[in-house]
Amino acid sequence: MADIQTVGVVGAGTMGNGIAHVIARSGIKVRLCEVEQRFLDRGLDTIRKNMAREVAKSKLTQPEMDAALARISGTLERTALMDCDFVIEAATERFEVKQAIFSELDAILPEAVILASNTSSISITKLAAQTRRPDHVIGMHFFNPVPVMKLVEVIRGLATSQQTYDTVKALTERLGKTPVEVNDAPGFVSNRVLMPLLNEAMYAVMEGVATADAVDEVFKLGMAHPMGPLTLADFIGLDVCLDIMRVLHDGLGDPKYRPCPLLIKMVDAGWLGRKSGRGFYSYS
Ligand code: NAD
Repeated sequence: MADIQTVGVVGAGTMGNGIAHVIARSGIKVRLCEVEQRFLDRGLDTIRKNMAREVAKSKLTQPEMDAALARISGTLERTALMDCDFVIEAATERFEVKQAIFSELDAILPEAVILASNTSSISITKLAAQTRRPDHVIGMHFFNPVPVMKLVEVIRGLATSQQTYDTVKALTERLGKTPVEVNDAPGFVSNRVLMPLLNEAMYAVMEGVATADAVDEVFKLGMAHPMGPLTLADFIGLDVCLDIMRVLHDGLGDPKYRPCPLLIKMVDAGWLGRKSGRGFYSYS
């Protein structure tokens, strides 16, 4: 653990910039890698804004923010990760994208370096098999917004070693997060339990059992959820929800994971939730 001085983060989107933020804040250097300058700039800009908000709320001092920002460097070259001693991949949720990243990282990094993925649903065991170090591959599933949410679901692939797990557990704690250990299975624990709830809420709307508002009120007032399942689905992105339901359906083979037809229709229409301006609710 004491050895981890520079962490590479692949992808500077919603999750990648949040992960870079918490790593830099904890005193570790970060090399943030993207495919295009505009995505890198957007990620770095988000980190600056989010840290400034923490300063405004007195959760961070200005000198701490300046020092944390100085620890982050951006790059468009994956080879620039060559001297990192730990890498977290937070790129687009497509197996082909992650497969290419893992095999390239495996080729350029020393064998002792751990490769972690922030995937929500892709098999860690399968990603590990793209490398010559499957014992050094693990899932590190952060939650959005990363600087705020305490949980990291730590996913052991079939070949993940105890030493790799112990290193990741210690790193997670150093970041001020709480690791929860789970084994590799479709959707892990979080999405295996959460997504069918959201999917069922969509069925309730589709079948006219209640409006989206009413379903959300039931969960907020009756179950003390901070937001209702349809608001949450809009926040996550309906395309992301559909992808995860498909992973559960394909991976577990049980018809109970069938994606709700209304969800499929909304994604086909480009109604992806908050990010597209329209989902179960309108965002103007
Ligand atoms: P996002 O679309 O916001 O960001 C993904 C970023 O990866 C993009 O900026 C893209 O340009 C970049 N990218 C794609 N290919 C790349 C490559 N080869 N090298 C470097 N960068 C590359 O997506 P996100 O929501 O941040 O999700 C990232 C990962 O985190 C996914 O695996 C997702 O399942 C997982 N995740 C997402 C959430 C969430 O709530 N959004 C929560 C937990 C986990």
